[in-house]
Amino acid sequence: MPVEGPLVDRYGRVHDDLRISVTDRCNLRCVYCMPEEGLSFLRMDQLLTFDEITRVARVARSLGVTALRITGGEPLVRKGLPMLVARLSALGFGDLAVTTNGTELAGMAGKLASAGLRRVNVSCDSLRPERFALIRRRGVLSDVLRAMDVAEAAGLTPLKVNVVLLRGRNDDEILDFASFARTTGRIVRFIEFMPLDAQGDWDRARLVPGREVFDRINARWPLEPLPNATGAPAERFRFTDGAGEIGFISSVTEPFCGTCNRLRLTADGAVRNCLFTNDEESVRDLLRNDGTDAQLSLLLRQAVWAKHPGHGINEPGFLSPSRSMSMIGG
Ligand code: SAM
Repeated sequence: MPVEGPLVDRYGRVHDDLRISVTDRCNLRCVYCMPEEGLSFLRMDQLLTFDEITRVARVARSLGVTALRITGGEPLVRKGLPMLVARLSALGFGDLAVTTNGTELAGMAGKLASAGLRRVNVSCDSLRPERFALIRRRGVLSDVLRAMDVAEAAGLTPLKVNVVLLRGRNDDEILDFASFARTTGRIVRFIEFMPLDAQGDWDRARLVPGREVFDRINARWPLEPLPNATGAPAERFRFTDGAGEIGFISSVTEPFCGTCNRLRLTADGAVRNCLFTNDEESVRDLLRNDGTDAQLSLLLRQAVWAKHPGHGINEPGFLSPSRSMSMIGG
């Protein structure tokens, strides 16, 4: 394993993208993510403190990480988030973004932008109020749509909209979302339903393959690949008439593991090299036992070096990881 230079794994993939979960709690209960009741959450003392998160981010930055995304659970429910953003921003990442469900964003977008946040991804699975309520179980569509306007006005652009499609539930809104992308200029990304729901109800039959979504949109408004798109992780396309961009995160049917450049830090300080792994290393234990920055660097390097070539979802015997999406940080 190399002990200097960028964070690289044994397949040559350079890891320059770190996703940090700041909480496993969420104020919504999306049907594909969490059960309505009964989930237990981490205690405050189990969460990494802002000092600890900043320290891991600083060491990651020194190892060549250039993109940082703050996620959860719902990151905006972690108290004092703009303070953390300011500290992370000072570390000089080229990209600093938050993934949010948007419910609290309108009130915080200005503070987050002033703290140095560059962009937001807002999750929104339906453009119809009643259906939004059924899929997300809490929260109100109009609040989320207003938050998108407020975030853009605050300069948090380009704004991306994450849509998880479920067969028979919202797959009749594919063209509505494409039209939304065309009229608003927001980058809509269709995410395949992954076996990461806390209830363990994942079923391949409920997944809407990215290819099918592409074909339906392309038949109505022709698409072409975006020049210079890296392909990791969203396959990016633009409308040939120039009216906007959409993306596909087809993790199940068209895995992009070969170009994966991501490393994750859970809210309780576990470093994970893949959403679907069960292997984790605890930076929290290291930090709370007087670990040095050199030991922290080594832990990050080892986590990357141990990465498997692929996530294995489509292999016989695949088992969903013991932690679900909201516990890992999506
Ligand atoms: N709470 C924030 C939000 O809603 O965007 C950030 C965390 S959430 C876990 C991150 C993303 O993961 C969201 O876009 C959400 O829709 C997606 N997600 C959650 N569970 C999923 C699943 N089982 N399959 C695919 N995407 C999922």
